[in-house]
Amino acid sequence: MIVDVHAHYFPKAYNEMLLRIGGRSLPEAARALTARPARDDDPSSIPLRLQQMDDAGVQMQVLSPAASPPYAEKEADAVAAARLVNDSYAELARAHPGRLAAFVSLPLPHIDASLREMERGLDQLGMLGVSMTCSCFDRSTAEAEFEPLYQEMNRRRTVLNYHPIQNGICSPMINDYRFTVSVGASLEDSAIVLHLIARRVPERYPDIKYVVPHLGGIIPMLLERLDNQAPRVHPNLPERPSLTARRFYYDTVGHGSQAALLCAWKAFGADQLVAGSDYPVLLAFETYRHTFHSIRESSLPAGDVDKILNHNAQRVLGID
Ligand SMILES: [Zn+2]
Repeated sequence: MIVDVHAHYFPKAYNEMLLRIGGRSLPEAARALTARPARDDDPSSIPLRLQQMDDAGVQMQVLSPAASPPYAEKEADAVAAARLVNDSYAELARAHPGRLAAFVSLPLPHIDASLREMERGLDQLGMLGVSMTCSCFDRSTAEAEFEPLYQEMNRRRTVLNYHPIQNGICSPMINDYRFTVSVGASLEDSAIVLHLIARRVPERYPDIKYVVPHLGGIIPMLLERLDNQAPRVHPNLPERPSLTARRFYYDTVGHGSQAALLCAWKAFGADQLVAGSDYPVLLAFETYRHTFHSIRESSLPAGDVDKILNHNAQRVLGID
């Protein structure tokens, strides 16, 4: 059975709160391109979701709020939003044990408040790891100011699940051409991998299980080039960039691209790929069942498909 590490749920009250507190987690240029809220979810939609999960062979979804994290300039706003989304997810998980679970969302950029919410989410609400976007207020979340969070996650050996925030890596080359969502998201994924490598984060915090979405964006195509050309400008890396990149996990959200799946499998190895769907985003283009079926239909060895679909996420989350 599949554990889907990349699934979303947007509580209506949470969406309303984000609008109220300003939705200021995005640069001005990107806001219009990623109109929020994405959609309103409420518990009445859960039976259909469970039915789709049954049909797709999905045992459990691990929920996160995608590009709508509870970030706000005022700490009290961010904390209220984080508590609301985390409590909503915890309630769903309690109502559907073993079927729905969640990652803790943090009230960034407020570090002490985030540490408190992380503790509440992991210890009291029983969440399976931490959700963080690739950037927060246009600062990479691999930056030094976020380091106390990494320190605590490392101590707890927790899962850290990244997600793009849809800022088109703050680039007019992407945003002015309206590729913020279709391509920019994968560039954010790629950028966080590069930032983690450049700042030697996994060397200092080796016990975090880093999960990068969307097959790592363009990273799997660039490992050799990184090994050749990055050390010249990053002379103090502890190892080749490709080795560090292979320490991370990558979810399989690839919009059905067999080329992207094969590339990531070849680059990172089957053990580093975890099942993900981006539910409900891809339902506009394919059934939930098809999202995972396309991995079964790939030319990957059957044993590797079995690992990717049925075992790796469980191992990473510590629920096997
Ligand atoms: Zn997503």
